[in-house]
Amino acid sequence: MVRLIQQNELLVFIIILSTIGITSYVISRNKKENKETTVKEFYALGTIIRLRVDGNNGEKAIKESIDRLNIIENKMSVFKEFSEVSMINKKSGISSQEVSRDTYFVIKKAVEYSKLSEGTFDPTIRPIVSLWHIGSDNPRIPNKNEISKNIKLVNYEDIIFSEKDNSIGLRHEKQAIDLGGIAKGYATDEVNIIFKNHKIKSALIDLGGNIFAFGKKSDKTLWNVGIQNPFNTRGEHVGVISVENKSIVTSGNYERYFTKNGKVYHHIIDPKTGYPSESEIISATIISDNSIDGDGLSTGVYIMGLEKSLKLIESLNGIDAIFINKNKEIYVTSGIKDNLTITNKEFIYKGNL
Ligand code: ADP
Ligand code: MG
Repeated sequence: MVRLIQQNELLVFIIILSTIGITSYVISRNKKENKETTVKEFYALGTIIRLRVDGNNGEKAIKESIDRLNIIENKMSVFKEFSEVSMINKKSGISSQEVSRDTYFVIKKAVEYSKLSEGTFDPTIRPIVSLWHIGSDNPRIPNKNEISKNIKLVNYEDIIFSEKDNSIGLRHEKQAIDLGGIAKGYATDEVNIIFKNHKIKSALIDLGGNIFAFGKKSDKTLWNVGIQNPFNTRGEHVGVISVENKSIVTSGNYERYFTKNGKVYHHIIDPKTGYPSESEIISATIISDNSIDGDGLSTGVYIMGLEKSLKLIESLNGIDAIFINKNKEIYVTSGIKDNLTITNKEFIYKGNL
C-alpha cells in the first residue's frame, strides 16, 4: 500500500486509513494548485481510493473509473456472494465456472507470479486466509489442526484453465481463490487505461496504497513518491523516489494486522506454514510499469526473503524493488539505486546485496 501526500504551500493531504494503514505517498511541490484539479475519494475493493486528475476531463474520467472499479470488485471480490471468484469457489471440486476476460486474465497472471515466486504468492490461499479473519472486526488465531487441514488445499497448480470457454475451476472440493493480493494492481492498470483514453496528462491513482504516478506533475516535474516508514505508519517516510508513469506498490506487515499477547499477526500469509510470513522483510515495494506486476510480486517477494527476492526482481526487465528489513536496513535493485533518496537517518542504506 502506498500513501499520497500533496505538499503545496500549506496543503498536506494525509489519508489515514484507521484499520488498514498506509505505506508510501507522493509529495508534489506545485506552487499553485491547478484550477482544474479534480479529486475524488471513495471506498471500493475493500479500501479507500483516491483519484486525482490535473487538467481537463477529470470529472468524466474519474466517473468512468469508479464504474470500472465497481465492476472489477463485483467480479473478483470473495466478499460478494455471486462474484465470479465466489462462483469458482462454490463449484470447487465439482465443475468449472465461465468467467469474464478480466477475471480470467487476473487469475492467469496470479499463477504466473506464483511460479515466479516459487509458490510464496498463491491465489488459492483463501482457505487459510479465511481462518484468520484478518482485516475483519474479529480476527483470531486458528488452531494447529485447522491450519494443517486447510493448508493442504493451497496449491495454485490445482487451478484449471480452459481457454476454449474462458472457464476456471479448482481441482478439489473446499479449495478457494483469493485475489486480494493482486486485484488492486489490475484495477489500477484499468484506471490508467481510462485516463489515457481521456487524454489526461497528469494524475495520481491511489487504490489504498497502490499508487500509479500518471504522467508528470502539472508543472512538468516528476512525482515524488515517499516510501512509508514501516515502524511509524503515520505519514512518515524513509525515503523518496522521483518517477513518471510508474506503479509503486508496497506490501507491509503494518497494513492489516492484529495483536494478541504482544505478538503481531499480519495479513501476508506464508503458504508453506499457514501463518503470517516471518521473513526478515517487513516492507517490499515494487516499482513497475504495470501495477498488476507490482501487486502480484510485492506479496510474493515479501515472503520469499531478501536474497532470493533481490535476485528475482533484478532478473525482471523494467521492474525494481525496495526492501526494508527488521533491522531498519534498506536494500534496492540496481535500476532504482540512484533514484532513492533516504530521508530518515534511522535507516541504513545497504544497496544491492
Ligand atoms: P494489500 O492488500 O494490503 O495491499 P497485498 O497486496 O500484499 O497487500 O495482499 C495481501 C492480501 O492478499 C491478503 O489480505 C490476502 O487476501 C491475500 N494474501 C495473503 N497471503 C497471500 C499469499 N501468500 N499469496 C496470495 N495472496 C495472499
Ligand atoms: Mg499484492
